[in-house]
Amino acid sequence: MGTSSSHSSPPSMEAAEELRRNRILSSKLYFNVAPSKVAVIYSPSYNIAFLGIEKLHPFDSSKWGRICQFLTNEGVLDKNRIIEPLEASKDDLLVVHPELYLHRLKSSVNVSMILEVPPVAMLPNCLVQQKVLHPFRMQVGGSILAAKLAKERGWAINVGGGFHHCSAQKGGGFCVYADITLCIQYAFVRLNISRVMIIDLDAHQGNGHETDFSDDRRVYIMDMYNSQIYPLDYEARRYIDQKIELKSGTRTKEYLEGLDRELEIARNQFNPELVVYNAGTDILDGDPLGRLKISSEGVVIRDEKVFRFAKEMNVPIVMLTSGGYMKSSARVIADSITNLSKKNLIDLNSSTNNNL
Ligand SMILES: [Zn+2]
Repeated sequence: MGTSSSHSSPPSMEAAEELRRNRILSSKLYFNVAPSKVAVIYSPSYNIAFLGIEKLHPFDSSKWGRICQFLTNEGVLDKNRIIEPLEASKDDLLVVHPELYLHRLKSSVNVSMILEVPPVAMLPNCLVQQKVLHPFRMQVGGSILAAKLAKERGWAINVGGGFHHCSAQKGGGFCVYADITLCIQYAFVRLNISRVMIIDLDAHQGNGHETDFSDDRRVYIMDMYNSQIYPLDYEARRYIDQKIELKSGTRTKEYLEGLDRELEIARNQFNPELVVYNAGTDILDGDPLGRLKISSEGVVIRDEKVFRFAKEMNVPIVMLTSGGYMKSSARVIADSITNLSKKNLIDLNSSTNNNL
């Protein structure tokens, strides 16, 4: 930055845009899903399975699997009807990430920094690639596919994803790939969508997608976050269209009343064709990172409000589970999905009797 030389000109904007379009159009991630499946996306390979990380991190590394286990054990969701995504390939990631960024991830030192794992716990590189980056790339594949399904079905839930601290150029805060940016770029090209609303209700500010869509008028960002914690990204805050800053210790009643007010404002500000809902559960009371005091019931009501908002506007909604890695998070997310089904905001049963 800051150099004013006029040496060899970079590929033109048009050429770069054309390359991006072609990558998106030739991607395998948007495969056709049988009608017998429900729009819940998950793969057992989402789970980060290696010994020790959970001791160093306030982190339930099998959160994603436990969500599905609760749902299938309780008869809410038929295991055979869950959709398994494909892993995002290098070409898929290159749609937003520069080659150099992906190259840096080949070093476990760089990955450890993004994951904020102490260097003493650094893992052999092959393990980082297999046990950490592969699961994340599967979740990215899920977030991208979710928009296609939402357009077809009205809603889709990726049981993982929501890496909202990662931008095209920079990872951070446990987020290695910019799945939200990718999901939206694919939707622009493949779904013929030109207005997307991000509703980011994770406890942290979503500085990754904010940086990526800073000057993109097609994306409206509503972000409600604890302004006193990570990432304190003041530049990215300028790109939030509707900013709701909370203080540590905010309680359920105040939070939900604020959300009602803000959804009403959002409704009048922007007319989206797709809602991307980043539904982090680190707002839960007791979460060491989020530092808010929202009850489990409060999280369930929050999700219901956002789904109702999308339904009333008749706009497809993608939900990503994002942050929140306490042991209790999986339980709350499963309860919330069950509640959405009970309230007819999502349909986990239809076509069960179809022979399709
Ligand atoms: Zn968070």
